[in-house]
Amino acid sequence: GAKEDILVDAHPHIGTNKLPALIQNMREGIIELGGEVHFDERVTDFDIQFGEIKSVKTSIGNHYQADGVILATGHSARDIYYLLHQKNILIEQKDFALGVRVEHQQQLIDKIQYKCEQRGEWLPAASYSLVSQENIGELVKGVFSFCMCPGGFIVPSATEKGEVVVNGMSPSRRDSKYSNSGIVVQVDLSDTVKYKDFGPLAGLKFQEDIEKNACLIAGGNQNAPAQRLVDFVNNKVSDSLPETSYQPGMASVNMSQILPEYISAALKKGFQSFGRKMNGYFSNEAIILGVESRTSSPVRIPRDKETLEHIQIKRLFPCGEGAGYAGGIVSAAMDGENCAAKWAQKYS
Ligand SMILES: Cc1cc2nc3c(=O)[nH]c(=O)nc-3n(C[C@H](O)[C@H](O)[C@H](O)COP(=O)(O)OP(=O)(O)OC[C@H]3O[C@@H](n4cnc5c(N)ncnc54)[C@H](O)[C@@H]3O)c2cc1C
Repeated sequence: GAKEDILVDAHPHIGTNKLPALIQNMREGIIELGGEVHFDERVTDFDIQFGEIKSVKTSIGNHYQADGVILATGHSARDIYYLLHQKNILIEQKDFALGVRVEHQQQLIDKIQYKCEQRGEWLPAASYSLVSQENIGELVKGVFSFCMCPGGFIVPSATEKGEVVVNGMSPSRRDSKYSNSGIVVQVDLSDTVKYKDFGPLAGLKFQEDIEKNACLIAGGNQNAPAQRLVDFVNNKVSDSLPETSYQPGMASVNMSQILPEYISAALKKGFQSFGRKMNGYFSNEAIILGVESRTSSPVRIPRDKETLEHIQIKRLFPCGEGAGYAGGIVSAAMDGENCAAKWAQKYS
């Protein structure tokens, strides 16, 4: 379903609008080859005997016995992390990143990047990639752009009621009038000491609390907390908010109330240094929305480097982004292939 360009492009892009048909084709391919797809049925338990996984139990009471389980439930399947922890299956906290999503008019980004008033019909919507290191007291924090979407939309991406999470996507033509990007700050183990009682789930709890706080402060629905960019840096609640691609709505708040202090401080410095790199980027016509918190998994499910099997549980293959071994579609898909190959090598 995708254009052939993706085979040769340095930064291949398919486009959100094309994905539903493409996924359906992939699903049909799997079914044709003898696979099964079960909708509306979640894995809720694992049957482990003598250090080996035997079957999974699902939310509608089915048990699926298997010669192996590739666990690829993504970075938002908190129930799976809780389940693993509760069953004393080893998981580890890992670094991730958290921040906000910034939105500019695409025309401004085109003007900055192409250095001309209009990009014309032959140039694609311009993108950018930004990174800076900021000193915050004793800390040195990386601030960087993540999942930049030229000509795109900001979309709600929470997975539970009572939390607000944003992310971005672009249609294949990248023709919306907005440009957006996650701007995030690295979160390492030392940043979550307040949550140390949660053990390996400390980062996850930290992430969850910020998402809930964002929801609460923005009104308890899918309105995203938002602030004009310069107002954020000046700690001023915006009197008005510019138009946005984010459809559910926005609430004008002080974003510093939602984010941990060092994240706000790093973002404020980061946005100003980005403004020095891209003249016009640091503008009060730009807006930030929160929170960009699902950049990668705050948990790793440890596995053997060679066999890709869980280090304690035989026949269990932690896989993809949720297990901490991928970041993005292609690396997650390749990790899936590798896990299947390793399972076949050892057990088929
Ligand atoms: C809005 C948005 C835009 C993105 N844009 C891009 C992009 O342009 N390029 C890019 O590379 N990446 C992008 N990403 C990130 C990309 O989607 C992920 O990196 C990738 O999907 C990770 O793949 P995965 O297979 O590890 O996990 P997922 O794709 O998250 O798949 C996990 C699956 O497990 C299922 N699941 C969860 N819990 C259970 C359970 N208990 N039982 C059974 N099933 C369960 C979930 O329903 C889901 O289908 C985007 C993400 C979002 C949200």
